[in-house]
This record gives sequence, structure tokens and C-alpha cells, in this order.
Amino acid sequence: MNATTAEKIQATCTIVGGGPAGMMLGFLLARAGVKVVVLEKHQDFLRDFRGDTIHPSTLELMHELGLLREFLKFPHGKVHHISAVIRTTRVQIGDFTHLPTQCRFIAMMPQWDFLNFLAEQGRHYSAFDLRMNAEVTELIEQAGRFVGVRAKTPTGELAITAALVIGADGRHSTVRERAGFIVDDLGAPIDILWMRLSRQPGDDDAFLRIGVRKALVMLDRVDYWQCAFVIPKGGADEVRQRGLEAFRADIMELAPLLKDRVTELQSWDDIKLLSVKVDRLREWYRPGLLCIGDAAHAMSPIGGVGINLAIQDAVAAANRLAGPLRTGQVGIEVLAGVQRRRMFPTRATQRMQVFAQNNFLRRVLSSSKLPTLPWPIRLINRVAPLQRIPGRVVGLGFRPEHIATPDVGATAPT
Ligand SMILES: Cc1cc2nc3c(=O)[nH]c(=O)nc-3n(C[C@H](O)[C@H](O)[C@H](O)COP(=O)(O)OP(=O)(O)OC[C@H]3O[C@@H](n4cnc5c(N)ncnc54)[C@H](O)[C@@H]3O)c2cc1C
Repeated sequence: MNATTAEKIQATCTIVGGGPAGMMLGFLLARAGVKVVVLEKHQDFLRDFRGDTIHPSTLELMHELGLLREFLKFPHGKVHHISAVIRTTRVQIGDFTHLPTQCRFIAMMPQWDFLNFLAEQGRHYSAFDLRMNAEVTELIEQAGRFVGVRAKTPTGELAITAALVIGADGRHSTVRERAGFIVDDLGAPIDILWMRLSRQPGDDDAFLRIGVRKALVMLDRVDYWQCAFVIPKGGADEVRQRGLEAFRADIMELAPLLKDRVTELQSWDDIKLLSVKVDRLREWYRPGLLCIGDAAHAMSPIGGVGINLAIQDAVAAANRLAGPLRTGQVGIEVLAGVQRRRMFPTRATQRMQVFAQNNFLRRVLSSSKLPTLPWPIRLINRVAPLQRIPGRVVGLGFRPEHIATPDVGATAPT
């Protein structure tokens, strides 16, 4: 095939985006016997700019799928509590150890391990077709219905026709843009400077550190810390103008344990700017098309819950779509049903994120004094049983989903 040859495929469902939402939905549909093609624009999953939190609810899904033991063979850290350090005071604000789940912890694992695992499991089903290096550029529409997509691949254009197109292509979604969905922007007053610093045995594991006008989130990636330095929206140039030395000093002030490691930040190339947004589509569907995950509702990193929500969307979508897809018919009511099911947890989670960013983080970043801790946090820190509430919200989400799709059995050589 030469570089411009168009390849044509027919599938029952095509999913744009191989992130947590797209890979989970692709795997579940193929496992239920639906011929599905997942298109991912990158050539692998090895990207740094993603969260690495596998929540108790996702581990529970792995258990329901009979894959938990296999999955936990990947190296991972275990977070049983959520702790924060406000200057020098440590507070505990979440407890996962009482959750009604098999695993009462968040597994800290690079997201590429999770996605590779789903890809590997998907390959056991001949209905699962994952195309890496396939970037969707256009939706195909016929008589008011979406019937497929066109993608750019290294070997030329790929055209896929399908009974249903799923947009799971994240917060900069091409699908939502091409379909002309109405987006409600909820605003995000922060951006993130993202970097890694090595981790040493015995390091304090507080995940959030607050100082005067600064905040640092540290995610444990077993042999290094993935650090997110929180800045006011659009403030990256100001940080750069103050110089690398001043930036390193800010990190050391927030996390003295890193003082012998900040020199690992040798230039601004080691520090990436990630812009944060929080928004959601008013309607997640059109005839022949449904958005899920960040493509339907872009999540802030606050609370580390976006991956959980994306995976729960995928499970809810699979539960409702697998049956109709097997008969080849997916009516608009079925798609509306997925949105109805997932709108409440999305609204509730985004409300919590917007509240935290507007009422706490914005004050932290703008005040010359260390803000006093909000009273609910002080209360939760003092009364240990209350820590189970944030533990539940972060660990399980507002509406946990369960696998209700069948397993048609492995159909491809393993
Ligand atoms: C800095 C930062 C840190 C975060 N940390 C956490 C955290 O610790 N825990 C947490 O739970 N959440 C975190 N979040 C939120 C979380 O990353 C998202 O909510 C989650 O990744 C959404 O999953 P998704 O599958 O919907 O989208 P994504 O993870 O964005 O996946 C979309 C996929 O689609 C692919 N794609 C995009 N366009 C195309 C195209 N045109 N064609 C083909 N493929 C395409 C992308 O390459 C990507 O693989 C963080 C967010 C940010 C910004």
C-alpha cells in the first residue's frame, strides 16, 4: 500500500481515543462480542501527562472481570489515606481502608501499564481491533446521522464506517469539535507545571503541599515523584521570568525532602506546562455518535478523579450499548440513557472540583498569608471516621458502575 491509499473498514462500533475511557469501552464491547475498532493517535501509551491513579472502583471492576490478580502483578504503590501538608502541619483528609471493595487503596501505577494491560486483554477477542498511530480528522455524516470517521495513519487514510461512533478523545476532543456540540465552560483558575524528581525510600508520602502562594502535588510513581506545581491560569511566563533557581527554591520550600534533588531540573525543558480546563457538553450524543470521558466533560486534576469518572462512563456505556449494538441498531434514546446515567456523577464531581479550585486553591495562590484551613477539612482531620466520606467520593465516585456485559469467551489465540 502506498502513502495515500485509503483503507476502508466496516465495524459495528468505532471508538476515537485510546485513553482510559476508550480502552475500557473497547475492551468491554469486544468481550461482549461487538466488533469494535479503537483508534489512538499516538504510536504507544508512553505519555507522561496523565494521571496514574487506579482507583478502588476500577480495581473492583478488574475483580468483577476476573483480572485483578493478573493486573496487580504490575509494580504499583498503594495509597490507603489522603494526606496533605500545609506548611509544616500534616492533615489526613481521606481514608480508603473502610471501602466495601476488594482493594481498599488507590494503586499508583503508570497509566501506560493500565492501558497496555487492557490492550493485551482485548487481543484475546477477535472482535477487538486497536489501531495505534491513527488520528481521527473527520466524522462521516450521511442523511443527518454519523456513520463513521476518517483517520490519518502512516500508511495513508483510513475510513471506518460503523453503526456507532464514540468520542473518547479527551479534553481537546476533535469529535466534539467536528460534531459542533455545545460546551459549557465551568472555568479553571489554575494551570500546572509538570515535572519528575527521583524518589527515595522513606520519603514522606503527603500528596498535597501548600505554602504561601504555592501548592505542589506529588504522585508516587514508585521510583520517582511526578510533581504538579500549581500556578494561576496563564502564570507560566511569570514563573519562568523569575528564573529556574527561584522555581527550585519554591519546590524546596514546599517539599524540603526534595532539596538534594531539585537540581535534576536542569532547564525549563524538564518542566512542562499543562493547561487545566473544566467543562461539559450540554448533550453528549447525536444520531450515531456519543461522547464519554473527558470528551464529554473535561476534568480538572483536583481530587485525582477524572480517570475514575472516564472508566465509569465506559462501563455504563458498555452496559447500555452492547445489546443494541449486537443487533446493529442504536437509537438516540439509548444514547440519551447513557448521558442520563452519568450526568449526576459528572455534575457532582465537577461541582466539587470547581468549589475546591475557586474557594481554596485560588486563595492559596493569591494571598500573601497562608490561608487557614477550611473548617470542614479541620473537622475531617480531627474526627477520623469522617475521613471515610472523602475516601468514598475519591475512591468510588458518586455513582460506581458494575460490569453487566457478557463475556463471549476468548475468540483469538492468546
Ligand atoms: C495535569 C493533569 C493531571 C491529572 N491527574 C489526574 C490524576 O492523577 N488522576 C485522575 O483520575 N485524573 C487526573 N487528571 C484527569 C484525567 O487525566 C482525565 O480526566 C482522564 O484522562 C480522562 O480520560 P479519557 O480517556 O476520557 O481521556 P484521555 O485520557 O485524554 O484520553 C484520550 C485519548 O484520545 C487520544 N486522542 C486524542 N485525539 C485523538 C484523535 N483525533 N484521534 C485518535 N486519538 C485521539 C489521546 O491521544 C488520548 O490517548 C489529570 C488531568 C490533568 C490535566
